[in-house]
Amino acid sequence: MACPLCGHVLPKDAGSCDRCDWVRAPNADTAEGKASDLVAVMLSVIPGLGHVYKGYRLLGLLFVTGAFGAILLGALAATATAGFGLALIPIYWFAVMFHVYGIEDRVAPTEKDEGEEY
Ligand SMILES: [Zn+2]
Repeated sequence: MACPLCGHVLPKDAGSCDRCDWVRAPNADTAEGKASDLVAVMLSVIPGLGHVYKGYRLLGLLFVTGAFGAILLGALAATATAGFGLALIPIYWFAVMFHVYGIEDRVAPTEKDEGEEY
């Protein structure tokens, strides 16, 4: 399938796009043994941890790295905008939490790992 937002080619039934903010609308039916969206969001106090919890290790690592970037960027922007740049940091946090809430969890993978298709 292709991402409806950016057209990036995604694995079939992908829950989200790794190139943009597109997230598949959450399904109404909740499968047994599903990772809790709420727990994932709370874990996102440390950006990326919620993603790791849901099974997205690579993405989680990316968000942890991104958090440092956001803090650095926010601090840098803050010096130039008399503190307004600090707003970037909570926005990043919110975006990460929003994202981890929306993505499908991969906690229970099939025994035969089909490999990361990022
Ligand atoms: Zn996309």
